[in-house]
Amino acid sequence: MKLVVLPGDGIGPETMAATVEVLEAVSHKFDLNLSLDHDVAGHESLRKYGATVTPELLAKVKAADGLMLGPMATYDFKDEAKGEINPSKFFRKELDLFANIRPARTWAGVPHKVDDFDLVVVRENTEGFYADRNIASGGSEMLITSDVVVSLRRITRECCARVARSAFELAQRRRKHVSIVHKANVLKLGDGMFIEECQRVAKDFPEVEVDEFIVDAMMAHVVRAPQRFDVIVTTNMFGDILSDLTAELSGSLGLGGSVNAGQQYAMGQAAHGSAPDIAGQDIANPFSLILSASQLLNWCGQRSNDMRFVRASEAIVTCAAQAVEHGEATRDVGGQLGTAATGRKLAQRIASLTR
Ligand code: NAD
Repeated sequence: MKLVVLPGDGIGPETMAATVEVLEAVSHKFDLNLSLDHDVAGHESLRKYGATVTPELLAKVKAADGLMLGPMATYDFKDEAKGEINPSKFFRKELDLFANIRPARTWAGVPHKVDDFDLVVVRENTEGFYADRNIASGGSEMLITSDVVVSLRRITRECCARVARSAFELAQRRRKHVSIVHKANVLKLGDGMFIEECQRVAKDFPEVEVDEFIVDAMMAHVVRAPQRFDVIVTTNMFGDILSDLTAELSGSLGLGGSVNAGQQYAMGQAAHGSAPDIAGQDIANPFSLILSASQLLNWCGQRSNDMRFVRASEAIVTCAAQAVEHGEATRDVGGQLGTAATGRKLAQRIASLTR
């Protein structure tokens, strides 16, 4: 199994180094025979090749079994004509990674201000209010006059239906409950269609309970009683915002893992950004990226029906839970370790597992 590894910007190189150590440990332990192909994207690629991502890199990723993408300094990348392409958008769009699956749960040993919970946000990833990805050419944000901007939002039945199906399939394997989050009171057509498609897919999953929440009220519900949610499905921007909230409610944004999944390809990617405020200080929490790697291995295992990958994925989560409980983690989650030592300790924990 071959994974392409792109460390990214800011805290990317340090969190990816810790993640690679963990991937190597599970590969050894579970005989995964993982081959990691290290390359660059973001600022380093811009310096080397004049673009944050290149067609050659895309071809390499398409030929591999999965991609680990580090956090990117997307806010720095303003002008595609100068090679400043948002790498997240690039891979999500080019590989048609339509479902961004972002679990969040409380962890023993990590202080959190809410009751215990375990939920997953399933976010549509390829259209919505994201001006850089929802039309075939150019952007969908326009400067009408120097004082007027119009931003277009695209919602299609196909994209609603396919992300809904991902959410219901996931709920079927979990606590069988899907919450649809929308703003159909204002975005009557677009979010109306989103609800319609989710409810249409729901008919194929009669044992899954379904409810609906307006996104603003959802913020209150999820802070007040996150334990009532299992799988939450929503459009792109709402999911982006909501999943940072649920990750932080779990104890830290640094615990928010995610996988971007399509029919053919998948990309593990931390929920957070490049965190320039803490980059290079060995204090960033690597668990978000490590848990994303675990989700990618799970996707690879399910797809190839190879349970070694599923077991390896589960072992990472189990060992991560033990590590945070024992304080073998960074300071944001109550530990005392640096980024590198957190990765090393977790790799050692995995290596010492009895099979
Ligand atoms: P951010 O997610 O990078 O950081 C938000 C806050 O959370 C900061 O205080 C940061 O220190 C903290 N934080 C983030 N990750 C952490 C970790 N692993 N451990 C401990 N603390 C962590 O958001 P930002 O500062 O608004 O954005 C920085 C850059 O990242 C921008 O260029 C933005 O566009 C980009 N970004 C990229 C992605 C991505 O690549 N998927 C996602 C969000 C933001």
